Amino acid sequence: MTLFEKIIAREIPAQIIYEDEHCAAFSDINPQAPTHVLIVPKKPIPRVGEAEAGDQAILGALLLAAGRIASQIGVNSTDKGFRLVINHGRDAGESVPHLHVHLLAGRQLEWPPG
Ligand code: 5GP
Repeated sequence: MTLFEKIIAREIPAQIIYEDEHCAAFSDINPQAPTHVLIVPKKPIPRVGEAEAGDQAILGALLLAAGRIASQIGVNSTDKGFRLVINHGRDAGESVPHLHVHLLAGRQLEWPPG
């Protein structure tokens, strides 16, 4: 099992704030913003570039979950806002080989990212 599968299975503790048929979301252990949530598919797709056509519903569910979570925490508006990040591979800084969407919010985020 991947690290994130173990979190979803409640074998490793995490603050799970959202769950549906396809995905779950929990706080990042090393937050990079006041709100830093990881949205993870229950299916252990290693990384976004390895998703297949049959994963379309899962990929859609991740983004829909992001919007719902943003509403839940009060940042789903244009005056506040949030950023979604998916890291694929070494150059992007991927460290956990189980697809996840970072949801960052709660401060002014810089552009371009580092
Ligand atoms: P990546 O670098 O692969 O895009 O993101 C992996 C993220 O997983 C990092 O932001 C890291 O802080 C987070 N992470 C690593 N181990 C754990 C853990 O055991 N629990 C939680 N909640 N997050 C973790």
